Amino acid sequence: APPASDKPLRLLIAAPRGFCAGVDRAIEIVERALDRYGAPVYVRHEIVHNRFVVDSLKAKGAVFVEELDEVPDGVPVVFSAHGVPKSVPANAEERGLDYLDATCPLVSKVHRQAERQVEHNRHILFIGHKGHPEVIGTFGQVPEGRMTLVETVEDVARLDFPEGTGLAYLSQTTLSVDDTTQIIEALTQRFPDIVAPKAEDICYATSNRQAAVKAIAGECQLLLVIGAPNSSNSLRLVEVAERMGCVAKLVQRGSEIDPAWLDGVDTIGLTAGASAPEVLVREVVDRLASMRPLTEEVVRTAQERITFKLPRQLQD
Ligand code: SF4
Repeated sequence: APPASDKPLRLLIAAPRGFCAGVDRAIEIVERALDRYGAPVYVRHEIVHNRFVVDSLKAKGAVFVEELDEVPDGVPVVFSAHGVPKSVPANAEERGLDYLDATCPLVSKVHRQAERQVEHNRHILFIGHKGHPEVIGTFGQVPEGRMTLVETVEDVARLDFPEGTGLAYLSQTTLSVDDTTQIIEALTQRFPDIVAPKAEDICYATSNRQAAVKAIAGECQLLLVIGAPNSSNSLRLVEVAERMGCVAKLVQRGSEIDPAWLDGVDTIGLTAGASAPEVLVREVVDRLASMRPLTEEVVRTAQERITFKLPRQLQD
């Protein structure tokens, strides 16, 4: 038999993958703001967690900063797709800054639910990852002390509230569907009266990308996820593949792929997180093709047609 490395590599490309409607919208907001106001347009936090996207927008005149006090007076500022604490638009208003909110509408939906639960005098258990900007933004929708972070099933056991405390739970939009199901089970077992969100908070893009990975990971010896190390939904895609016994690696660019990774691999899977553009998928495919002859196959598990409207200031 010929050595394994002479066999064409079978490449399974997951679909849906890559850009979601919230990321599409956030990037379009920055591009339209640049057209309308001219450079520089400031952006608070990486508009989406992808260096390629951030660098392309920088080249067009966007300036990225972490906090509002780094934005000079008189220039427009965009808030990233992950959402911001209420204090951020409030400060922008005080300073008379023109701001555009690129918070994904699905994140805003969770923000409004958080406010509503506080109005109903319920304490919120928020399932999410500490330090992620979306978590910081959602905590910043309610007064301090009204929300507690739950990261794991073990965290649930440690919760302690006075008798009669009304409780509700909400979650970050980009979590592992399976982990979150387990945490919710633990929460409802411990607090049978806890109020659930109206609909699942994990967004369609996150759950579709995880389901698409599950459909191919079982056939692959290696799965590549194009995404940034600070991209929550991309990290979750790596975990989904690993749990199915497949070696999975997060890569930002084609150049990061080590040819040794392909040793003994006949079938390789490929997907991209919600903030990774399709050009990077092509880049990775081309890089793989430069190492081994390959056959490409797209495995689609869902169609996505959702789009979001731009903020009023930017509509034609
Ligand atoms: Fe919105 Fe989901 Fe995309 Fe985040 S991953 S921007 S919540 S659609």
